[in-house]
Amino acid sequence: MRLAIAMLFVGMVWGQTRQVAISFDDLPRGGDEGGVRKFSDVRVMTMKLMRAIEGVPVAAFVNPRQEREFGESGLAELLGMWRRQGAELGNHTFSHPDLNKVSLAEYEADILLAEPAIRRARGGSQSRYFRHPFLHVGKDEETKQGLARFLAEQGYMVAPVTVDNSDWMFARVYTTSKDPKRVREEYVRYLDEVFAFFEKKSVEVVGREFPQVLLLHANQLNADAMGEVLAMLRRRGYQFVTLEEALKDEAYRMKDGYVGTNGISWLHRWGVGLGMALKFEPDEPKWVLEEFRRK
Ligand SMILES: [Zn+2]
Repeated sequence: MRLAIAMLFVGMVWGQTRQVAISFDDLPRGGDEGGVRKFSDVRVMTMKLMRAIEGVPVAAFVNPRQEREFGESGLAELLGMWRRQGAELGNHTFSHPDLNKVSLAEYEADILLAEPAIRRARGGSQSRYFRHPFLHVGKDEETKQGLARFLAEQGYMVAPVTVDNSDWMFARVYTTSKDPKRVREEYVRYLDEVFAFFEKKSVEVVGREFPQVLLLHANQLNADAMGEVLAMLRRRGYQFVTLEEALKDEAYRMKDGYVGTNGISWLHRWGVGLGMALKFEPDEPKWVLEEFRRK
């Protein structure tokens, strides 16, 4: 009995000490292909998302090519909303190229091309963080090392992702679903499972849980579901921390041993570095996958 009480106490303390840094990619909008594109709709979507994450520290990664859809002032207005929320705006390349498909030189040029718009949105300072589109960091050792060197020289820190997931698949299905509530509920349930998976994986790879970095995308699904996502995370015992705070943990100094074409969690990369076999996170529910494939 005494042991059970002690374990419950440890569980509660442990629960309270979980931490996660939330990040959004593809600003001002993306990760859902066919979703809202009109400036006024994106503005409303962004307002809703900002309300949902009020007081939550987030990092947010921009693709300034969307300036072509929203105009320079439109993009600035949307990014300004994130800035006012307190978001740490970072570089996600100008046009979201796939490092598996373009040359390193083209990719590097695209990173530099993104900077002026992000710098303006940041009030004049260069982005501190870089997030790789598709989480592709180099399909061979030479590309991987070359890009890492370039980023360091340019003064960027890599923003890794530990809790990778398929929010983009749900987001795509959500845009046209006849039962959006079902998609939202299934999405939150799925993220809950993904967190359980990566918490376990953390213990396997790092020997303990540590501050996670969650990747989500800026779109209607997350604007609508964010309240439920945050509630789920709080239920799991998470506190929300900045990316900077999360990356202070020693875990983020581990070796990324993976070289290949997959865009995967850094927990998988560190696992490979330790000689562990790749074993991926839970699949999306079958009906979501099937609806996604019909698109
Ligand atoms: Zn992206």
